[in-house]
Amino acid sequence: MDQTYSLQKLISEEEIQQRIVELAAEISVRFEDRPLTLLGVMTGSLLFLADLMKQLQIPHRVGVLQASSYPGTATSPGPLKANLEFLPDIAGRDVLLIDDILDTGQTLHKLMAALQDRQPNCIETAVLLWKKARTQVAIEPEFVGFPIDDKFVVGYGLDYDDDFRHLRDICVIEFQNVE
Ligand code: IMP
Ligand code: MG
Repeated sequence: MDQTYSLQKLISEEEIQQRIVELAAEISVRFEDRPLTLLGVMTGSLLFLADLMKQLQIPHRVGVLQASSYPGTATSPGPLKANLEFLPDIAGRDVLLIDDILDTGQTLHKLMAALQDRQPNCIETAVLLWKKARTQVAIEPEFVGFPIDDKFVVGYGLDYDDDFRHLRDICVIEFQNVE
């Protein structure tokens, strides 16, 4: 039996871009005259990070780190794997951790603990999407693009089995078995 999938648009490209302009304005006020470093959690935050950077009205540095808790086709998390090897020096800096989606919260929770060891001045978080009903850890992101229901979504950086990241809209993906 083969599997097929359907995509249903949840948040359009235009809605995403408009929300990022609003978030960037809030972030620019919050971190004005602060030594800000954006840290993007790869690979999902790639497009969000890039579009947010372009809209920020304040100077900032940018770094990326690799983290994954969803191996392959899994749609529920396994153990977090993180690579902090290429992280810029964040000692004494205000860090804004950027991720595509806050789901169970394990990723951001564990990353924040690991980043604290490097003596940043503070760590805040910005997520494009928040599946609030599924979040299990005490974490309140300071900046949230859109709260969403408990559906698996792809596009605008978000993947299923490393595919679909290039879609311009955020879409709900559903699978069907075919004979
Ligand atoms: P958490 O650790 O459970 O909060 O998971 C966060 C990570 O899981 C995100 O950075 C995404 O990479 C991935 N993830 C969670 N939900 C989705 C989804 O609906 N689509 C694609 N990736 C997801
Ligand atoms: Mg991710």
